[in-house]
Amino acid sequence: MNRLLKQILMVGGTLALLSAFHGFARADLQAEVTEGYLLIDQWRFEEADAVTQKLLKRYPNSGDVHFLNARVEFYKGNYEKAWKILETVDDQYHTVREFKTLVSNTREATSVFVTQESEHFTFHYIDGPDQVLIPYAIEALEKSYQVLGKILGYFPKQKVRVEIYPDRIPFARISPLTLKDIVTSGTVALCKYNRIMMISPGSLVRGYNWMDTLSHEYTHYLLSSKSYNNAPLWLHEGIAKYLETRWRQEADYMTPIMETILADGLANDYMVALEDMMPSLAKLKNAEDVQLAYAEVATMVDYMVQQNGETVLAQLAASLAEGTPFEMALEDAVGKGLNEFQIDWKKHMDGRQLKTIPGLTVLKFRFKNHRSPGENDSAKEAALQEAGNQRAHDLTMLGDILKSRQYIPAAIIEYKKAIDASKMLSPILNNKLAGTYLLQKDYTQSEALLRKSLNYYPQFATTLTHLGELFYMKKDYAAAEEFFQKAVRINPFNPLVHSRLINIYAALGQTKKKEQQGVLYSYIK
Ligand SMILES: [Zn+2]
Repeated sequence: MNRLLKQILMVGGTLALLSAFHGFARADLQAEVTEGYLLIDQWRFEEADAVTQKLLKRYPNSGDVHFLNARVEFYKGNYEKAWKILETVDDQYHTVREFKTLVSNTREATSVFVTQESEHFTFHYIDGPDQVLIPYAIEALEKSYQVLGKILGYFPKQKVRVEIYPDRIPFARISPLTLKDIVTSGTVALCKYNRIMMISPGSLVRGYNWMDTLSHEYTHYLLSSKSYNNAPLWLHEGIAKYLETRWRQEADYMTPIMETILADGLANDYMVALEDMMPSLAKLKNAEDVQLAYAEVATMVDYMVQQNGETVLAQLAASLAEGTPFEMALEDAVGKGLNEFQIDWKKHMDGRQLKTIPGLTVLKFRFKNHRSPGENDSAKEAALQEAGNQRAHDLTMLGDILKSRQYIPAAIIEYKKAIDASKMLSPILNNKLAGTYLLQKDYTQSEALLRKSLNYYPQFATTLTHLGELFYMKKDYAAAEEFFQKAVRINPFNPLVHSRLINIYAALGQTKKKEQQGVLYSYIK
């Protein structure tokens, strides 16, 4: 039983003072209310709902039952209804007050949301530019529904609720994450309270690989449901990361930066221990540790699958749902205990010869400015960080000034110097130089730089956009479309990419695609 459940049961006990029932009836009531909470804790929301409805009929005046009902409604996404019920519940207890705050914040943050449905999901977001996300989100999640459902042997009967928050501030208010957690760890989405929640890529300067992120969160949803919420955190994260790219037919989940950090960690015997990953990877001390933790657990799952086949994942989840303790479930599934498994994994990894690329850096999420005082400073700090050091930063600034005054060859010289001075393989600096080469129509130099940078940072939207632009200028529309399509999926808020795609479809005579792109573009105009 988890900590939260224990707390609720304690409150349930004290709240029973409000109940009109005594003696045996009260003991019965307590047992049944407890069952309701247990079902919620196990992600069996429909059953919890059924139990609660029955209890409401039998004990219409019980504060306990109403508090349970408020929880059920909250988990069903009925925040207004949950709030109405909570208004009638006495809030002298900490847990009640805490829950009331959560419901109140959620209700406030989602009050202006509109809804759109697909076959298996409901999307809730603010009407406006974020509308552009929905067709892409449907693509990622409906594919995930099929692909991941098959792997994990689970297909939710009810539509899964997906909420898209416009930026990190409301997201922090409705989740257990603080603003600091979000910025430090780069956590921009989570799966909790029977739903998936995500920060819109529109609030980030360059977007992020949010379609993979949605699929990742959906894996958490499936695992929580299928295992009755009994999977340990490391296994949850391992499976979610391992399967993150599967919806788009890609088996490789390991990014170059993850591989580099894991290789360094293994070489220096610096690992994040599985127990230190609790309560959430978002709470680790920095973004490097977060990447290391992901790399560890994803390769553990990869190793498990290599040894036992992909069915091992569904098997583990099923036996956890039966209440089998994790160690035993693992022993049954892979034939060894957790310690032995980790030792074998490490041996396996030592033999794998991972690639390290010196200079690779975890790129921090860069949120758009909110024009608040302090934001300018943090933008400056971010620019400095992205350049790698002060000298590289100063040379870049000089390059920027020269470029803005049309001194292109001089700007190229400064950008080159900046890249030499920067110790990191900064995709920002490489893009500045590559973009300037493009102004000179020096396609060869530009393409070489961009391709190199893309190998290091495959999800960097600016690189993809520049490559699209390069082929667009060369009138190689097929190649341009491919890169622009990748770019638009990471950052659907860049108008240039939409307008280029529209032009490409027009040039190729693909009227339907042109119209579809036009609709997408209209959302962000
Ligand atoms: Zn996760």
